[in-house]
Amino acid sequence: MPTRHLIIGGGTAGINAIRTIREEERDRSDIILVSAEKPYSRMVLPYYLDRSIAESHVYTAAAAQLAAWGVTTHLGRRVTALDIKTNRATLDDGTTLEYDDCLIATGSAPVRAPVPGADLPGVHSFWTLEEARGVLASITPGSQVVMVGAGFISFTILNSILALGAKLTIVEIAPRVLPRMVDPTGGELVEDWLRAHGVTVRSGARLTKIQDVKGRKRLTFAGSPEIVADVVIMATGIKTNLDWLKGSGVVSNRGVVVDEHLRSNVTNVYAAGDVAEGRDLISGEAAVHAIEPTAQEHGRVVGANMAGKDVRYRGSLIINIVEVCHLDVASFGAWDDPKAEAVSGLKRERTAYRKLLFTGDRLTGAIILGPSADIWTTNDVGMLKGLVQSGISLARFKDHLKKNPFDVKPAFIASKTTGRLLPETVLGRPSKAPGDTPVAV
Ligand SMILES: Cc1cc2nc3c(=O)[nH]c(=O)nc-3n(C[C@H](O)[C@H](O)[C@H](O)COP(=O)(O)OP(=O)(O)OC[C@H]3O[C@@H](n4cnc5c(N)ncnc54)[C@H](O)[C@@H]3O)c2cc1C
Repeated sequence: MPTRHLIIGGGTAGINAIRTIREEERDRSDIILVSAEKPYSRMVLPYYLDRSIAESHVYTAAAAQLAAWGVTTHLGRRVTALDIKTNRATLDDGTTLEYDDCLIATGSAPVRAPVPGADLPGVHSFWTLEEARGVLASITPGSQVVMVGAGFISFTILNSILALGAKLTIVEIAPRVLPRMVDPTGGELVEDWLRAHGVTVRSGARLTKIQDVKGRKRLTFAGSPEIVADVVIMATGIKTNLDWLKGSGVVSNRGVVVDEHLRSNVTNVYAAGDVAEGRDLISGEAAVHAIEPTAQEHGRVVGANMAGKDVRYRGSLIINIVEVCHLDVASFGAWDDPKAEAVSGLKRERTAYRKLLFTGDRLTGAIILGPSADIWTTNDVGMLKGLVQSGISLARFKDHLKKNPFDVKPAFIASKTTGRLLPETVLGRPSKAPGDTPVAV
């Protein structure tokens, strides 16, 4: 009888796992996918919001692809319980499914600020396609939009909201924007830039309630004036979708605890993506990254292991890159490590900032900000990511970089970082795709 793989969650991690099982397996297995939503990429939702892509383009594995892979699907269904003794999953319609091994790839869900009125109609989250449809339908040119929370997700949709012709206010409880992505200098530069581009920014603002006022929303704050808006978007954090696993015996902290093969404490149960606490490449510690590249790498590694290969997961790099109003903002790795040796350079007149964090001779974290129109900003984003990701020794270049953190290129080229990054995929194969394009995963 063929091995029965049960994949729970059809997002980035789940679909990459399915693709990899089919690529890596020796004998054809049965793959069953249960997913509350059809497979699509959340990361492209900002482009759906500003109408640069149609809804049909957000999907990652349409029915034809799933059929070509020979996947049995239960779409629009949730797994509500896992019985690890009998190897059975129960769905929300009462169906039970037996498996030989199973992948938990249920991702995460948005969390709203715990204030009265947070669940009123017209107060949106922006995490799912359904929520994106709701936001798109509610914004018209001239709409007053308030975004509560100035973190990474808010910043991914900021350009799209402006492109729809809305007037945007961002409020943030922390003293600065992007508190989990850049340091205070970076946050201050981003705020100034946004204000210069017509966005109202209010940081250090504690929202206390939201009320309906004749179809509009009134937002009240502790110690700062209220705001009346047409549309409110809450981007106040996410939590892993783990509740359904309670009592199953699968061990979790912030995410499902996994070993170096991305296996949970239960031998035939794996976890991947936002819901898994995998290894962080820089710290070596378990971490929930909740970013696309980590979900993709987890999916590839898990898929190979489910297909019978022995692939150890080396860990993923935390990567945050956004572009707002033509300002590139990025941070990599341990950008806020207090133990690292940090150097920074600021060219305020050009809104250009670099911060490099060294641990010994290795670059273990970096922050970069600069106008997208400056070609060296865009180039340096890629080079700094490469230097952190490769973990290459920069002994020969460290003094130069410390004196001039803007001059990254010589170190990148002379250290042959590209060659270190490209030779093999996370599955340990030569990174040779069909054609001449090397692939990283
Ligand atoms: C607007 C937006 C922009 C983003 N931009 C970026 C970016 O620029 N860069 C970046 O790195 N990351 C970005 N992300 C984050 C990225 O999309 C996630 O990290 C990624 O989707 C995680 O993949 P995943 O497979 O773990 O989970 P998901 O993609 O969330 O997939 C989980 C799947 O599981 C299903 N599911 C949940 N519970 C159950 C259940 N009980 N039973 C069955 N199915 C279930 C869900 O419906 C979903 O289909 C963005 C996210 C959003 C919302």
